[in-house]
Amino acid sequence: MTELLIKGANLVTGGDDHENALPAGGQDILIKDGRYADPADASAEATVIDADGLTALPGLIDLHTHLREPGREDAETVESGTRAAARGGFAAVLAMANTNPVTDTAEAAAHIRTLGEKAGFAQVFPIGAVSKGLAGEELAELGLMARIGVRMFSDDGNCVSDSRLMRRALEYVRAFDGVIAQHSQDPRLAGRDACCHEGEISGRLGLAGWPSAAEATVIARDAELAKLTNSRLHVCHVSTAESVDVLAWAKKRGIKITAEVTPHHLLLTTAEVQGYDPTYKVNPPLRPDEDVAALRAALADGTIDAVATDHAPHARHDKEHAFADAAFGMLGLETALGVVIETMLNTGALDWDTLVQRTSIAPGRIAGLGSDLGMRPAYGQTAQLTVIDPQRRNPVDAAESFSLSRNNPWHGRELPDPVMITIADGRISYQRQ
Ligand SMILES: [Zn+2]
Repeated sequence: MTELLIKGANLVTGGDDHENALPAGGQDILIKDGRYADPADASAEATVIDADGLTALPGLIDLHTHLREPGREDAETVESGTRAAARGGFAAVLAMANTNPVTDTAEAAAHIRTLGEKAGFAQVFPIGAVSKGLAGEELAELGLMARIGVRMFSDDGNCVSDSRLMRRALEYVRAFDGVIAQHSQDPRLAGRDACCHEGEISGRLGLAGWPSAAEATVIARDAELAKLTNSRLHVCHVSTAESVDVLAWAKKRGIKITAEVTPHHLLLTTAEVQGYDPTYKVNPPLRPDEDVAALRAALADGTIDAVATDHAPHARHDKEHAFADAAFGMLGLETALGVVIETMLNTGALDWDTLVQRTSIAPGRIAGLGSDLGMRPAYGQTAQLTVIDPQRRNPVDAAESFSLSRNNPWHGRELPDPVMITIADGRISYQRQ
């Protein structure tokens, strides 16, 4: 019997009250053999953690993590990536399918899940590919993957640009309430060389740009397909004001559409690209100020449902190139909560309950986890908890990351650094020393 007594934490629940729910507010939280129990039943043997002045949140869930294993274990492994996740306060991550080999079979998906269980830092839920080999031609084994519990499918990195294939994928997953997570970007409109937002800065720097329309047009098409099939569509990493308008339009029509925004799109802008530093090369690209403002407003009012990191580790030799030739992507797991607090809490755009909605409750619902994750904590449930000090700030030091990669866009920037303890699947997976 193990007992952990967290004393005096202020619990933010983000969810509706119900019979077994832990009350919100300042209290002691008892975790007995991994499950929430009545603190009145704590024994003298319980390990006590003083959490006076700290805040407790339901464990964060990341809908969009690239773990790079199998295939690019030099950039990240399931173990290193989930260690970084735990440090960032995440109890669970959804692992994107664009590994090598691609996660497009039930065996491949089961393997990822097993690696996550072995590492033990965060629960790992594999995302299955929509198409075989991410080639966009033939559907992957969606049904077989669903049989082992996969509910989310994505060709992320690529857009499922063939309308007919997208329709068939949406039709297929409806039977088991699955969801297609789309990397919305018209590959013809964006063009192969695009590496920057298309606008004044891309012109000045001589970089090939993506027009905002390359994103919004795909979201609009997919919204129509979700309506046609009465199926669930999730839009990955929304980055423009135009896309927010399309999402609002689709939601108003009752279409089953959800969306996520990354921490980097909530804070960084196209201006970062002016030094040609490939750390800031990301897909979709960083956008101008007015897009950042629209994304923050949409996350606050619920047009965008969730925050997702798009944590994309890269080995040095894939990033250290001229801007146009470097790999896309940046690290995000360890800094995500800090950036959300900085951009949304500290600006007054979100309150704590809504932050919990966007970082835990909504991600759990969208991914169809149907477990103790993404729910208001309740007695008897497996503990999934993030204990934070919301006042704690620090300059980010890329060298200290638990990730195997160093493509960290926040290096040197002072941000909230709040995570003190992460409890995933009933066990402490991170504790600040
Ligand atoms: Zn993507």
